Amino acid sequence: MPTEIDLKRTVRAVRNRIEGGLDGPDISQPGEMTPYIQMIDGALLPGGFTLFCPGCAERVSLPTAGPGPHWAATGDLDAGTLTLTPSIWHSNGCGWHGYLTNGVFSPV
Ligand SMILES: [Zn+2]
Repeated sequence: MPTEIDLKRTVRAVRNRIEGGLDGPDISQPGEMTPYIQMIDGALLPGGFTLFCPGCAERVSLPTAGPGPHWAATGDLDAGTLTLTPSIWHSNGCGWHGYLTNGVFSPV
């Protein structure tokens, strides 16, 4: 069943229940995340997160490393302390815009 779009949804960031984040948005819940690694300067390093949008549960990529624009990450997903800056905006999707601060997605 598709997730109802809610641009004012506040939800805790939790690890996606299926490792690798390969399940679709119809069964993944808003706010679920999966860390991914990528090759950076010849080394496999934490590259970012796959996020199921807090507003609509569509899959979006949040790079936290690499040569391009990316988010700064502090804290830990599983400890419920993950913070990403700057804000997250699903601009090519539902339009949810907000912050992940200390493990909680909150709309602006
Ligand atoms: Zn969305």
